[in-house]
Order: sequence, then C-alpha cells, then structure tokens
Amino acid sequence: MSIAFLNDSYMPITEAKISPMDRGFLFGDGIYEVIPSYEGKLLGFNGHITRMQEGLAGIGLGLQWTHQEWETLCTKLASENGNGNLGIYLQVSRGADSKRYHAFPQDVKPTIFGFTFDIPASPVANKETAKRYTVSTSQDLRWQRCHIKSTALLGNVLHFQEGYSQGNDETLLYNDKNELTEASACNAFIVKDSVVITPPLDNQLLPGITRNMLVDILREDGSIRVEERPVTMDEVRAADEVWITSSTKEIGAVVSVDGVPVGDGQIGDIWLAAQTLFTQHKYDLSLIHISEPTRQAEIS
Ligand code: PLP
Repeated sequence: MSIAFLNDSYMPITEAKISPMDRGFLFGDGIYEVIPSYEGKLLGFNGHITRMQEGLAGIGLGLQWTHQEWETLCTKLASENGNGNLGIYLQVSRGADSKRYHAFPQDVKPTIFGFTFDIPASPVANKETAKRYTVSTSQDLRWQRCHIKSTALLGNVLHFQEGYSQGNDETLLYNDKNELTEASACNAFIVKDSVVITPPLDNQLLPGITRNMLVDILREDGSIRVEERPVTMDEVRAADEVWITSSTKEIGAVVSVDGVPVGDGQIGDIWLAAQTLFTQHKYDLSLIHISEPTRQAEIS
C-alpha cells in the first residue's frame, strides 16, 4: 500500500481525501511537480522545487515552503514507499472554498498533496536497449501560459491522446508559425549535422528540468554544439535525430514522426553521446538552473 502525504499527515493513499470544493478539483487551480528518486537519491531536486515555487508565485498562490521543507517531505515519501525507483508527485492547490467562485478566496489554506509511483530504473545510454519512441504531430491548442506547470492539463491530455490513439508515444506540438513548441508531456529537440537544437524558453513551453540540465551538461562538456532557437516543423521532418525529454524518460530517442522514419530510422550517435554525458553528470548540482526567459514570462 503506498503512503501519501496530505496537508500535514502521512497516510495510506486510499485514506487520502479532499473536499469536492477544492479549487484544484473545480478549476485545476494548482501547481504540480514530478521528481525522480532512484534508490532514495533525488534527481534535479533544486530545479524542480525552484520551478514549483516560481509557478506558485506566478499564479499568486502564497505558500511559503522552503527547499528544506520540500526535501524533508520528498525524502520521507521516498523512504515510506521503499526507496526504489520512484516518481514523487507533489501538488499544491489553492484549497477548498465554501463556494464555487472564480476570484481567489481569502483565508483558505492551500491543499498540499504528495504521493509516489513506480518508474523504470534510471535510463541507460545503450542503443540496443533504449526505448524507440514514435510520435504524432499536431497544432498546439493549449493556453498561452505553458511555462507554468499547472494542474489544469486537459489541453495536454487531449494532445497526448491524439498521439496515443494513433499508436504513438507522444505528440509533437507546433504553433501557428509552424514552429515546434514541445510535446504534450515532454520537451523536444532535433539534431541536424551534429548540432543539437531546441526551442528557446518562453510562454509556449514548460522549462523542463531535464531540458535545462541537458543543455547545461552539453555546453559544459563542449563536444556537441547546442542552439536554443525556433525550430520549424520542416526542420523537424528533415532532422537527423529527434528527441523528447522529461524527468522519467531523460532523453528519449524518436525514430518516427507521423509514421515517417527520422533519419535512417535508427537511434542516432548524438543521442548516444548526449545520454552518456547526461548519465555521467546528472547529479552535478551546479548545473541546475531556471533560465531568465522563464522568469520574464511569469505573470504577476
Ligand atoms: N513539457 C511538458 C508539457 C511536461 O508536462 C513535462 C513533464 O511533465 C516536460 C515538458 C518535461 O519536464 P521535466 O523535464 O521537468 O520533467
């Protein structure tokens, strides 16, 4: 039985109950995070908590938990759930009001919820064993605040389902200029002529912790060139490699887009080099950052 945290106590997940008047339930009015924990070791913890705190500030939700308080919660949740390979899910909603009214309520306590779920072992940089991802594409029909990790995920869910119903693992999204934004639950990269390219951080995409760590690791290493710039869908279709990144996938090699093979249809050499470097350096604390464009894109 998995152990969850709700407000100020730990309990079996089946005993965790919230009010139907909770604004997270009624409006999707909340912020969440997913942090991987491998055998009790949290990956990218500071980046995840900083992003959550920026998201909470961005929606005017004044919860003042420190990194230390979140770390205590995550460590305890991981150990209560066996310290295996876990995704730690954290959610803060604006809390349960007495009425359903759009304006932010006064004097309502935020609801804090955490639970864990099993994830695969840390990905390995091996072309033979790595998962080969396939993706669909679709025009990005979500809102204009995609840099906020909101619990209101219906737009993402509908886009994910488009790819899923076509037998694919993800859906790559593009804006009305035919430029790649991200995927429904991942960031996206292409590789062309050995250069790794990913869209710049702005309001059209989540500042993924894996994306940011990968960009930092590649720049620090210096053997592979990285560009953050707009990427057209024509470039995606002509790419040598396409990747999707997220905390539990790390770097996912995409072998087909809309049923058309990427490059030669095999996992590429740059993926191998990048995942190898990511595996070597992912616990290096100095690499964790939330970039300036994300701060600028925040709403007040
Ligand atoms: N983009 C979206 C829309 C996501 O939902 C996620 C992860 O949930 C990501 C990107 C990847 O973010 P991270 O690397 O922080 O897991």
